[in-house]
Amino acid sequence: MSFTAAILTLYPEMFPGPLGLSLAGRALGEGRWRLDPVQIRDFAKDRHRSVDDTPAGGGAGMVMRADILAAALDATTARHPDLPVLAMSPRGAPLRQARVRALAAGPGAILICGRFEGMDERLFEARAIEQVSLGDFILSGGEMAALTLLDACIRLLPGVMGAASSGDEESFESGLLEYPHYTRPVEWEGRTIPEVLRSGDHARIAAWRHAEAERITRLRRPDLWERQRGAPVRSPSGARQKDEG
Ligand code: SAH
Repeated sequence: MSFTAAILTLYPEMFPGPLGLSLAGRALGEGRWRLDPVQIRDFAKDRHRSVDDTPAGGGAGMVMRADILAAALDATTARHPDLPVLAMSPRGAPLRQARVRALAAGPGAILICGRFEGMDERLFEARAIEQVSLGDFILSGGEMAALTLLDACIRLLPGVMGAASSGDEESFESGLLEYPHYTRPVEWEGRTIPEVLRSGDHARIAAWRHAEAERITRLRRPDLWERQRGAPVRSPSGARQKDEG
């Protein structure tokens, strides 16, 4: 069974785009995921094929019409009744690795990409749609957000990454940012790789990496640090345990 990404967009030619290369591109060629781009404009009703209109109440820009988006969405859900529907929006819940993992474990997703000022709010009242945000910044459209979300999911699909990088130790997987990495040459511009990493002592290396992960998380992401101190976290073995903090 492969992961299906159905994308509602005004720019279907943006897909697969960068996901046609490298890991994701190979996985696409191997049929581990598939793409069903939907041109929203094909569901327009007038001869100008318009999908947007001026904002009610006035103001700058244009708003994507609920009726046309719903027609495009309904046709897509009819083809993929088992897929969850997500809309890319700076007003959505911030996307986190746990959500990415859950999506990657499922059958795929229908992703709605906004343009202009966004979409008529009634769409979200009338259909079950999860709104997700990539972060506190504004993109010009949802396509880059959809590509990013898909990239994060595709690398987790079975057979896409080598066993060596199962992803378990990466930033966020443990509730912490990852420890720093080094590789040869041992000395570069007068800086040497930390001695502990060259010691061959696996217990010391693990302890050092954990301490560094904690130090960096505290420093750069006090929000993550607080959350991980309060919540049960996953031990490296995958079992749940209460963090000692
Ligand atoms: N006027 C809106 C922004 C619209 S940007 C506001 O202030 O909230 C146009 C489209 O780009 C959005 O509909 C959405 O699909 C996409 N987009 C912009 N920023 C995004 C973000 N941070 N995360 C996910 N999608 C985003």
